[in-house]
Amino acid sequence: MQNNDIHTKAGILLHDANQRYTERRKRLIETLYNSGRPVSIYEILNLEPNLPQSSIYRNLDALEQSKVIDQITFKSGVFCELSESFLGHHHNMVCLSCDSVIDVELSTTDEKAIDRILDNASRMHNFVPTHHTLDIQGFCELCLSQLEEETASGDKKL
Ligand SMILES: [Zn+2]
Ligand SMILES: [Zn+2]
Repeated sequence: MQNNDIHTKAGILLHDANQRYTERRKRLIETLYNSGRPVSIYEILNLEPNLPQSSIYRNLDALEQSKVIDQITFKSGVFCELSESFLGHHHNMVCLSCDSVIDVELSTTDEKAIDRILDNASRMHNFVPTHHTLDIQGFCELCLSQLEEETASGDKKL
């Protein structure tokens, strides 16, 4: 999706939610778009040192309520990313060691399989599912290789 399309779409979503598309919100969206991955609230606060924190939180909440962004809570804190209307449906892989986040897109067949399992589970509780979010936690390639190196050098000492 092109930069201009992002802003047009965000403008429409905010308008539908009776929210204004202010310069500040535009900048937040620009930040998320340019990063291409979920950004932690901590990073966002650091990028905007001149803005009062309360204002950033308020704007992020307004963007989330207007379905422009999603706020995702991981073990290491809250992250923001553009919503699925921009990025399409995907899952996040979160590294428990370095907090990096990788987007994964599954095949249609795999998504259908997940939905089937979740539909069955929901039915048992008379619950009607509309969509799912699913994050995978573990260790990234880089952290695993570092761990292996440490283990290997540890072996030598023995
Ligand atoms: Zn890692
Ligand atoms: Zn899915």
